[in-house]
Amino acid sequence: MTTCPIDEPLLQVRGISKAFGGVKAVNQLDLSVQAGTVTGLIGPNGCGKSTSIDCISGFQPVDSGAILFQGNDISNRSPDAIAHAGLMRTFQNIRIYDDLSVQENLLVSRQEFDRFSWMTAFAGSRAMRDKERQSAEKAQELLEEIGLQRYLKAPAGILSYGQKKLVALAAAMMSDPKLIILDEPLAGVNPTVITRIEALIKNRNEQGQTFLIVEHNMGFVMRSCHHIIVMESGAKLLEGPPDVVRNDERVIDAYLGRARDRKEPA
Ligand code: ADP
Ligand code: MG
Repeated sequence: MTTCPIDEPLLQVRGISKAFGGVKAVNQLDLSVQAGTVTGLIGPNGCGKSTSIDCISGFQPVDSGAILFQGNDISNRSPDAIAHAGLMRTFQNIRIYDDLSVQENLLVSRQEFDRFSWMTAFAGSRAMRDKERQSAEKAQELLEEIGLQRYLKAPAGILSYGQKKLVALAAAMMSDPKLIILDEPLAGVNPTVITRIEALIKNRNEQGQTFLIVEHNMGFVMRSCHHIIVMESGAKLLEGPPDVVRNDERVIDAYLGRARDRKEPA
């Protein structure tokens, strides 16, 4: 297993571009995520945040540029290979199985991750039973942490939208990734669940988990992120700690200003 030299970013995106026909969704984007941080990625709708995440996590090929994870080039590798390198992501549109129980959703996430390694090698063996027991324990711990243990055996379909997002986040954590990328984890979520998601991210970060988070909820971004990258038109506009970003005229004009105009509740 490769380890990250001190100071080398966990994730380095170097000049990636991605076009859809004539639309340059991502245009020479550079960004880095330092290990141990919560890094925010913000910018107006359509500026290329989700496409950037898709490229980083292997769900879209890049046209050019490089993506280094722990110093290794992962550009254009499969989502599965990138997950095994230690990078998991959630989607702006939740992807969980409504017909499976909440517990099964977590176990399946882990099984999908493990499919190409121990599952085939140890099928039916004691090693596999041990792994299954460990997965069940991890799922139990996660469900307690997110306050959904009473829904362990309930079909995920009965959960609220926000609770489903919590399950998707927990599912991404089942494989102990080094980096978790979240695409708008709070969008459409009620305040009670927002508090839970925020607490989960904070607790896990305090234990060393690194996050890259796309989010429009500026209160959350400013409270939770150590470093914020602002995108505009497919590229990085600026970056810095919350206090710098919050007070930058370009951000106020291009982004926060517009958000304020929508008369969002304080
Ligand atoms: P954001 O997440 O910042 O709102 P997106 O990355 O979703 O922005 O989109 C960036 C641009 O790329 C938008 O103009 C969007 O319409 C376009 N786009 C995104 N995905 C596709 C796709 N699969 N096919 C065509 N155009 C796309
Ligand atoms: Mg998006």
